[in-house]
Amino acid sequence: MQCLTDIPRKRRLRRRVEFFEGTLTNTTAPEIDTVRIFDTTLRDGEQTPRTSFSYEDKREIAAALDEMGTHVIEAGFPVNSDAEFEAVRDIAESTRTTTCGLARVVDKDIEAALDAGVEMIHVFASTSDIQLEDSMHATRAEAKQRSVEAVRRAKEAGVTVMYSPMDATRTNHEFLIEVVEAVSDAGTDWINIPDTCGVATPTRMAKLVSDVVAHTDAYVDVHAHDDFGLATANAIAGFEAGAHQAQVSVNGIGERAGNAAYEEVVMSAESLFGVDTGIDTTQIMKIAKIVEQCSDVPIPANKPVVGKNAFAHESGIHAAGVIENASTFEPGVMTPEMVGATRELVMGKHTGTHSVRKRLQDEGFDPTEEQVRAVTRKVKDFGAEKQQVTDDVLTRFANEVGVKEKSEVKA
Ligand code: MN
Repeated sequence: MQCLTDIPRKRRLRRRVEFFEGTLTNTTAPEIDTVRIFDTTLRDGEQTPRTSFSYEDKREIAAALDEMGTHVIEAGFPVNSDAEFEAVRDIAESTRTTTCGLARVVDKDIEAALDAGVEMIHVFASTSDIQLEDSMHATRAEAKQRSVEAVRRAKEAGVTVMYSPMDATRTNHEFLIEVVEAVSDAGTDWINIPDTCGVATPTRMAKLVSDVVAHTDAYVDVHAHDDFGLATANAIAGFEAGAHQAQVSVNGIGERAGNAAYEEVVMSAESLFGVDTGIDTTQIMKIAKIVEQCSDVPIPANKPVVGKNAFAHESGIHAAGVIENASTFEPGVMTPEMVGATRELVMGKHTGTHSVRKRLQDEGFDPTEEQVRAVTRKVKDFGAEKQQVTDDVLTRFANEVGVKEKSEVKA
């Protein structure tokens, strides 16, 4: 199939640490073998309240996603506007990977996506009763019929087709399976299972994916939302239950609380499940910063993988352990190098002598043990007043205590 074609990519950094001792060593067979990444930063991500990407933003984000080896880039909703159409068209033309355009089950939407030259069309229709009644204003029968016609129309045009029964997780189960079978018979290549309103849980998502997989020959994809903080867990549960692909966005941006985060899903697959996604993970920090800037949605400090605290240590015990061996208080299977980030020893209220000595040495000082203890006391007092111990502050403390620089000692 067109969009499963392997495109040669730069190799990612190999995992340096291979261990899961103790309670996690119970896996004999791989729980997941295929993880494909469908990025929707430019579509659902752009639907983040108060976010709008310029043409240049879209091109920059798409180029970075392409460079990393992302399997599909959902570039936008071509029928939306001329500007959107042009961005999708130029992304489809300039990227090596599969570009996807969104379309309702409406002819003009499908025509616009085809005119934009995308290799994949993602058609969607509401299937839950609440959305059928109060959003799409159609009956179940009409929604099913229009879905089948839209899939046929897009297939006839020769593109890869993904079909989404929108709000699948709140759709009557028998009707959902009826729609899945109907669009499968119409030739859809992919069925996406959208948890549009973020109500799925990992176990229920896995059950739903297994049921859908049993009723279609199409590839299965999952689309999770983070209303309850379960988006990544639900995406992973989807893979464990047989899904081939997950829809994600960089930094997890998207409608309401956002989507499953690109960086979380990719690193879980790579580091926790040992799956080679083919994605160059060393560029994750770079794209996180690009999307942060273009979306104007700041990355929280405690955001997994890309937050500024994700590889930072302050407490004395942790920092001392990390100085000896970073795997003592980090996952070990995921390092900052793997995602293009850097480890940081933060000076503050909880700092111990080990990190102060290390930081002083890194700054070119050669402190005695007594001086290390004196500087540590100053750092802790300063940090307790909620003040930031920057490099300049640390240097000031070192000078106050009379710490000599290494060159002075040699001379
Ligand atoms: Mn969504």
